[in-house]
Amino acid sequence: AVPTAILAGTGRGSTMGILLSGPEALERARSITTVVLDKTGTVTSGEMHVRQVIAVADASENELLTLAAAVEQGSEHPIARAIVHAARERRLDLAQPEGFQNLPGHGARASVSGHEIRVGRDAAADGLAAELTARLAQQGETPVLVWRDDALLGAISVADQVAPDSAEAISQMRALGLQPVLCTGDHELVAQAVAAEVGVDRVIAGVLPEQKAEVVRQLQADGNRVAMVGDGVNDAPALATADLGIAMGGGTDAAAAASDITLVRGGLRTAVDAIRLSRAVNRILR
Ligand code: ADP
Ligand code: MG
Repeated sequence: AVPTAILAGTGRGSTMGILLSGPEALERARSITTVVLDKTGTVTSGEMHVRQVIAVADASENELLTLAAAVEQGSEHPIARAIVHAARERRLDLAQPEGFQNLPGHGARASVSGHEIRVGRDAAADGLAAELTARLAQQGETPVLVWRDDALLGAISVADQVAPDSAEAISQMRALGLQPVLCTGDHELVAQAVAAEVGVDRVIAGVLPEQKAEVVRQLQADGNRVAMVGDGVNDAPALATADLGIAMGGGTDAAAAASDITLVRGGLRTAVDAIRLSRAVNRILR
């Protein structure tokens, strides 16, 4: 039989917007030492907007945006949505892309009006691409490079905002003795800017989707008991690997399915509430 304290905790959780995958979820949350936080959509709102469009070749800003948006129509990524939205706002006509290809953790590519267009990041960029990347990232904006037939056309930067309760949630984590770690596929400088804003001092950036679970495993190997909080398809393996997986409400189904706890409402503070609730329940059990 399920102990009364767990039943009570489960009921209390549901009134707080905390949905448990089963009675063992509260027990798993008990001795967490470290909380790995996805950036986009977890610490930040996930609602990206285009900030700058910089053309460096013989294409205008609008041509650059048109080509990038044509490709991004095929993607569900928050960056892709921001770029398509910005193009629509400027009333640009978008061609149908052909042979769309998602490049997880990197960007996307497609053929547009007979040209191969690629959008996204390039960790090994040099020259102008590296300069543009550094300049935009220094401003806390995520750089999206745009190439046509392997020639750099320029960059578009996107950014979202730190969610209103993230800083408070992170200071509550510290008060509970938990170490927050920011883990993201974004550029190091962008991640650092967000981390500084919310008071996180450990940042692991430029992580490819398949490496997120590896980051969790490494922290576990170092003796930590790890909770992972995320919302994206990319986060699912890490959420499943963590000692406790917490999916943000409004995130992907894949993230929720891989998690022990789903936050049906509220932001990061509800994740802290879940860990606190679990401690209270486990105190009664022992
Ligand atoms: P996160 O860890 O923030 O969820 P992702 O793993 O989805 O990030 O992506 C990592 C990086 O790859 C992004 O910060 C961006 O630079 C680039 N990227 C991924 N998908 C796209 C896309 N559709 N368009 C442009 N850039 C992208
Ligand atoms: Mg995310």
